[in-house]
Amino acid sequence: MPTTSLTAEVVSIGDEMTSGARLDTNAQWLSRRLGEQGVEVIFHSTVADTLQHNIDVFRIAASRADIVVCSGGLGPTRDDLTRQALAAVVGQPLELRQSAMDHLTAMFAKRDREMPERNKVQAMFPVGSREIFNPQGTAPGVDVDVPRGDRSPSRIFALPGVPAEMKRMFDETVAPRILAIGHGRSHLEQLVMKFFGIGESDMEQRLGEMIARDRVPRVGITVSAATISLRINAIAATPDECHQQIESTRKEILERVGELHFGDGDDFEQYHAVENQLRQAGQCLATVEFGRSAMLATWFASLGESPAYRGGFCFANLPELSAVFAVDPAAALETLRRRTGDGWLLVVDEYPSLETDGDHPLPAAEVRLVVIDPTGTVFATTSRLGGHPSIIHPRIGKAALAWFRKVYSEHAPSHRQQADGDAVPK
Ligand code: ATP
Ligand code: MG
Repeated sequence: MPTTSLTAEVVSIGDEMTSGARLDTNAQWLSRRLGEQGVEVIFHSTVADTLQHNIDVFRIAASRADIVVCSGGLGPTRDDLTRQALAAVVGQPLELRQSAMDHLTAMFAKRDREMPERNKVQAMFPVGSREIFNPQGTAPGVDVDVPRGDRSPSRIFALPGVPAEMKRMFDETVAPRILAIGHGRSHLEQLVMKFFGIGESDMEQRLGEMIARDRVPRVGITVSAATISLRINAIAATPDECHQQIESTRKEILERVGELHFGDGDDFEQYHAVENQLRQAGQCLATVEFGRSAMLATWFASLGESPAYRGGFCFANLPELSAVFAVDPAAALETLRRRTGDGWLLVVDEYPSLETDGDHPLPAAEVRLVVIDPTGTVFATTSRLGGHPSIIHPRIGKAALAWFRKVYSEHAPSHRQQADGDAVPK
């Protein structure tokens, strides 16, 4: 770790943010990433698409932060002014870069489109600046030093506003360049491990000194709707060293909380783990959900065609069907099970109403979670779940998936060896 950490300002450019039409999500994403690299973000600025205001913002940002990362305003239209603003701030004219021009031409050729004249502006760079390659779009980014008298120059990284392009360019090009400034160690590797079934404070307690801020590599903890993510950030001189740091830390984490771990990867959720596990075993699942929600059906449907998911039944507006379940749930489920083939069934009975007078947490409600295996054996548990209305249904869906994973790992013996290996990284 560097002795004094670098400071950064994140700048978001666009009328759509200053007018309130769009939420600035780029600043949040960039700030997290910078923090993970040990860079301290000290300011966020948001500015409209006006040249003079952009120049002002860049001047101020460069004077007070070592690194400025901005997004937006690199498009080909008249209101995209980032290039001109940067040229003004460093006092250099814009010049045409052939490499950027070649990339632009190739991008348009690939899309089978004539390049409009005005797009050429995207190949213009302030003299002395560096390009940031954009593999997905036409607008390359700009990386430029702003002299600050006898202090070291501030470095501005300008990225497009489109979140997907911005993220990839940051990870592939900007992050290594920042690491090289701050650490002389230019490799960063991250691993996100996902957990369910424990509160954040219990998790912190079990991890103990592993989440200390000065640990190498650093382990960060975040929670989203009851799913806990642990992000390991390794920064080292070589990819091998990063990899070793990640592996040994991962092992230590699994020793402490391995039974709650369901997979790796930022976007990896329990339904991915369940689908993977069933698909690899050549088995399948159908879901039944009572109440006004269809969390499981929605999640599994988002996976697209999968032989492991047969479909979901949701009963909110069919009181006569719910009544059948109420009178003879076993027989009703057996009928359903026969209709869905000889797979597994997962039942949520039921999602509580979210109606409250105001924005209060809901009292805990009892929810029955039922797994029926392919032979018809029923495994039921009752969960008491309450909380804020916005997260209670996702929590119930996740609790149901956790119950399924537990039953499956204990009662699908031929696949028991995958109990930890269900974590198939994305
Ligand atoms: P392009 O080449 O696509 O024109 P650009 O750099 O000019 O790129 P903008 O036109 O400013 O980018 O924005 C492109 C898209 O990205 C828009 O849909 C915009 O709303 C979105 N966007 C821009 N900045 C942000 C931000 N900070 N957070 C979230 N979305 C953003
Ligand atoms: Mg814009």
